[in-house]
Amino acid sequence: MKPRILVVEDETHLAQGLKYNLEAEGYRVSLVDNGAVASKLLESDPHSFDLIILDLMLPGMSGYAVCNRLRELNLNVPVLILSARSLSEDRSRGFDVGANQYLTKPFDLDELLARIRNLLRLHPRQESEQPSKPFSNKINEVHFGRAHINFETYEVLVGENEVKLTHKELQLLRYFVENEGRVISRQELLAEVWDLSGEMQTRSVDQFMLRLRKTFEADPAHPKHFLTIRDAGYRFVGDPKEEQQDGASAS
Ligand code: CA
Repeated sequence: MKPRILVVEDETHLAQGLKYNLEAEGYRVSLVDNGAVASKLLESDPHSFDLIILDLMLPGMSGYAVCNRLRELNLNVPVLILSARSLSEDRSRGFDVGANQYLTKPFDLDELLARIRNLLRLHPRQESEQPSKPFSNKINEVHFGRAHINFETYEVLVGENEVKLTHKELQLLRYFVENEGRVISRQELLAEVWDLSGEMQTRSVDQFMLRLRKTFEADPAHPKHFLTIRDAGYRFVGDPKEEQQDGASAS
């Protein structure tokens, strides 16, 4: 059977060009131009593709979020990110969410084809669901600073004080905890925590962040756990001391 490739790309010309060239190499190709649609498609039919070529800046849901979702679902289908974003942060973030390859636009067709062959050789299709090690563990309980949180029972303690958080605040907190150390954009939070409901604006994310800081930071004006990363988003740090020893910047 010819390998099946899903191309997630919103630039029509590029998508068509890829399809044409990949089909000429003997692959079967499906095109999707929206991240959320791609994610739904892969969720409903997880083993139908041998490889995914994924753009990052996509309508509906970012390529990062799509990739992250795949790994959450334990889908081991290889992902090649094809993006105009060439910064090393973009690459590392791509690998952090579980991408296998990262190629920058404009790209060389021969190189793309070679990378595809390589990925397909290294990752033969899983015909059936096989148990595999989870990419990200669901965390049910966490300690940081003076806080103790149980996401299953909704119990939140800060020192001796019990704190009431709303369901959404807990989901947001859990997303940070499960992605500790990684810079998370407001858009990603909207897509992942608010589920594309459209009722939220990026500025509303900031309101939720204020509330988390008021609840968990000793000095909310100088946060140690919920850091703002300028122009990028937020980052959660469970143990600020350990972070400093690692020499990582907390600004
Ligand atoms: Ca795009």
